[in-house]
Amino acid sequence: MNQITVQYLTDFSYIIAITFFILSLKWLSSPASARRGVLVGEIGAAMAVVTTFFNPELVQFKWILIALLVGTMVGIPLGMVHMTAVPQRTAMSHAFGALAAALIGISEYYMRIPHINKFEMTEIALEVIIGSLSFTGSLIAAGKLQEWLPQRPIVYKGQNVVSLSVLGASVLAALVLIFNPMVPFLFPAMVIISLLFGVLLVTPIGGADMPTVIALLNAYVGLTAALLGFVLNSKVLVVAGALDGSSGFILAVIMCKAMNRSFTNVVFGAFGQLQVSAKGEEEEKIVHSATPEEAAAILGAANTVLIVPGYGMAVAQAQHKVRELLDVLTKKGVDVKFGIHPVAGRMPGHMNVLLAEADVPYDKLIEMDDANSEMPQMDVALIIGANDVTNPAAKTDQSSPIYGMPIIEVDNARTVMVIKRSLSPGFAGIDNPLFYLDKTLMLFGDAKSFVGGIVKELTGGGE
Ligand code: NAP
Repeated sequence: MNQITVQYLTDFSYIIAITFFILSLKWLSSPASARRGVLVGEIGAAMAVVTTFFNPELVQFKWILIALLVGTMVGIPLGMVHMTAVPQRTAMSHAFGALAAALIGISEYYMRIPHINKFEMTEIALEVIIGSLSFTGSLIAAGKLQEWLPQRPIVYKGQNVVSLSVLGASVLAALVLIFNPMVPFLFPAMVIISLLFGVLLVTPIGGADMPTVIALLNAYVGLTAALLGFVLNSKVLVVAGALDGSSGFILAVIMCKAMNRSFTNVVFGAFGQLQVSAKGEEEEKIVHSATPEEAAAILGAANTVLIVPGYGMAVAQAQHKVRELLDVLTKKGVDVKFGIHPVAGRMPGHMNVLLAEADVPYDKLIEMDDANSEMPQMDVALIIGANDVTNPAAKTDQSSPIYGMPIIEVDNARTVMVIKRSLSPGFAGIDNPLFYLDKTLMLFGDAKSFVGGIVKELTGGGE
């Protein structure tokens, strides 16, 4: 095969890979086609990697093979974490992606100097700055989510001035390098300052906002990859990076909207600190609780039930028991639906993935707005390990940190039942007035065993 044919085949293969990436994103947008989306994305990525091996500029494969081996050794255990650890796993993937991009940018700089033009230097400097800050920022995000680092926002006086000055110093170093790439020690200084900025960027943000920050870091890493594509003259990297970056950005916007937060509020807002009730009024509030037998009797007598799952269902791994509950209630002629809040759990789509894992049919899942319009017709709203996403304070209490966040308005159902272990707050750290309503029954216990208890009662196993 001559070189022109190889070039044609390579370009053709890249175009197919890019088409697969686009189809992958399209299919990932619905739970029904998400598995296909993942598979097609994987095939696209494998095609892009294999095609790159045919690049005539590649002279030796030893280091690439070693890197593939190391990447595989890191990737396999990363892919095997529990569902609840997926946000921090994703942050780690971003950290590795950003590190790889930054390292390539750094090596390109040292390979090209002194013959580097202003345009190339701009590309490399931008790519290395964003890659470096995304690397350390993602590591801090993963550390916070894994609780290796304090989840609370770490803030101090004048922090925004310090952080912005550090970013300014790194941009200034880049500007000087564009006009004089050979200034001694300036390039490594720019890298170190950018690494430091990544730490300063994420440390002040609370754990509750980490998933949104991860989506933002996803956008940064995508941008780094796209810039790297320009540096290396790789069209596939430009397109893949742009797709990755823009989808990360869109996701962050969707998450901010679902929490009624602005970007500035997420990045500078110090949300997620536990609030201690100043009035100490918990003791005076009356809570009605019920046993699995009582809950089963109410559910069995209902015509319509809306289940609202949340983070607690994920922690308890209760999704399979929930599926059993759906089956037994459906058999009894009860119309059961699931109301899915866009930020229930700890990552977008968290509930959809868990319920899909337990083979809950997709047509049983309804989105927040539909759930709210159907709520007044619901005999029972059964909340399983959800808290913030059902908190009526978001509608009624202007002083609440979640005021304005759209919620699933379970308080409009005839009876509300909440499965959780205690009256403890959810991730936003605030009390939930729903628990003290006359129509609310608290079902105290672990979600998996409590739902299991209800199923047992409904199937006659409890007698
Ligand atoms: P949540 O408000 O964090 O509440 C979860 C509840 O689950 C807790 O109150 C806890 O109460 C209960 N729980 C924990 N383990 C349990 C177990 N084994 N069995 C039964 N219950 C258990 O969760 P959410 O309502 O799903 O709301 C999600 C929160 O995360 C929101 O504040 C949202 O803004 C935030 N967030 C989500 C995303 C996302 O993408 N999904 C992104 C950013 C932020 P007990 O301790 O009393 O059991």
